[in-house]
Amino acid sequence: MERVDVFLGLGSNLGDRDLNLLKAMNLLDEAFGMHPERISRIVETPAWGFEGPDFLNLCVLYRLPRTGTPEEQATRILRQVKEIEKALGRTEEALFDADGKRVYHNRIIDIDILLYGTHIIHTEDLTVPHPLIGQRDFVKKPLLEISKPAVREAFPEIFE
Ligand code: AMP
Repeated sequence: MERVDVFLGLGSNLGDRDLNLLKAMNLLDEAFGMHPERISRIVETPAWGFEGPDFLNLCVLYRLPRTGTPEEQATRILRQVKEIEKALGRTEEALFDADGKRVYHNRIIDIDILLYGTHIIHTEDLTVPHPLIGQRDFVKKPLLEISKPAVREAFPEIFE
């Protein structure tokens, strides 16, 4: 069976942050019907772009069976992670300021699709590789820890 390496980034800065990450990972296992192949260590960092409690972040790698096109499957994964964010009590949608710039805020849980194998995906809802990986050490470090040569070679600018 053909498989694809899907790297997800998880973060939490509200409530019982460890428990939020653990619950999210359990729900991801349930949604994907498998355990992750690799799990990074947890990194703790100050809130990025706004004042708030520190974040705990980690990355996981699921080796999922391929279904449909990369766009179709990544869109399905995005739907699944949004459901999980909702199930864990996240209510806020993405916020924007008057200039249309993203406003960052506290999160019970945030789940991002960082990489979908070595594919580049641009849809209305989805940009993969996640555009902010390279700028954020708290994503880059755990991602590097669980990465594979194929993705490091495909996206040297992310991992440099
Ligand atoms: P946030 O949960 O605040 O990071 O933002 C989630 C929104 O960002 C989602 O509704 C997606 O439509 C959009 N988005 C774009 N690219 C990605 C990605 N690679 N992973 C997760 N969400 C993404």
